[in-house]
Amino acid sequence: MPASITSITEHRDVLKTKETPLLSIVIPFFNEDEVLTDCHLRITAVLDTLSEPCEIIYVDDGSNDRSWDQVINFTAQKHVVRCIKLSRNFGKEAAMTAGLVNTTGRAVVLLDADLQDPPELIPQMIHKWENGYDVVNMQRKQRHGENWLKRSTAHLFYKLINRLADIDMPRNVGDFRLLDRKVIDVINALPERNRFMKGLLSWPGFNTCTLQFDRDARQAGTTKWNYTKLIHLAFEGITSFSIRPLRIATAAGVVTSVVSLMMAIFLVSKTLFWGDPVAGYPSLMTVMLLLGGIQLLSIGLMGEYVGRLFIESKQRPNFIVMNESCTEPSVRFESH
Ligand code: UDP
Ligand code: MG
Repeated sequence: MPASITSITEHRDVLKTKETPLLSIVIPFFNEDEVLTDCHLRITAVLDTLSEPCEIIYVDDGSNDRSWDQVINFTAQKHVVRCIKLSRNFGKEAAMTAGLVNTTGRAVVLLDADLQDPPELIPQMIHKWENGYDVVNMQRKQRHGENWLKRSTAHLFYKLINRLADIDMPRNVGDFRLLDRKVIDVINALPERNRFMKGLLSWPGFNTCTLQFDRDARQAGTTKWNYTKLIHLAFEGITSFSIRPLRIATAAGVVTSVVSLMMAIFLVSKTLFWGDPVAGYPSLMTVMLLLGGIQLLSIGLMGEYVGRLFIESKQRPNFIVMNESCTEPSVRFESH
């Protein structure tokens, strides 16, 4: 390990005596060796224009390419560069959690490594923060590099979750946002295992403002999300923030029971008074299939919630850190 590189735990102890960084940038990544160098250059160029030192935290979510070898060699003249390697691919939500618990800055910005979220917007975000906002959400005006299916499913998802969930989840706001230390402390104190970050980041509330930006296409490499992962994330989001689907199942149960009761009264009276020469096979099948469908759906839905309780009850950690390093700035920061 080079002389300037210390462990993060050591670094945190040192920081207690040093001044707190202005900003912590958290960058979770998984197999991004094609873009990381550019990403680092663009971030440091922006941070160098700020008036105080910052820290950049790279979280390697179990990459198996050259990403880790690249990040541990990254340096920034005026800023601290910290790298955390998770023991395997835990998913972006866990990687962000790992990054957030390690931040020490007075505010935090979450950024994707693929440069879809332009780091050049950070000064504008800081400006809003300095004007008293605790959360600066970045809303995508244009979603370049995304096909029609991804855009429309994303639209549907935000519509659905805002209908169902008890918190307001701003549309087209991803994980790219600035959060004040007090918001980060709340989020870090949340003990849950099902970490749907877009929901968790919005959950604490506080003074929030939204800036709009055009989201660029990925600079290189391919998206790490397939539709199975996205459907899983959508389920996670809905079930961790709302029990309304269970209520809908109950309501469907009540409605079908009432209709069935009325139908039963009608059929029995009809048979008693006028007799019933032919058994109604089609109507019988329709009712049976309908009820069977609603029952299976409700059981499946309950299973989703029970499954999440099961995961929560095991109390396993959200991530495991395998390796960490920290590179101190090579020159002292001089404010302009
Ligand atoms: N990512 C991660 N772990 C994963 C999947 C993705 O840390 O399991 C990172 C990825 O490297 C990138 C960010 O999360 O920095 C966003 O991922 P991606 O660009 O693939 O998602 P998209 O922008 O297509 O939604
Ligand atoms: Mg991306």
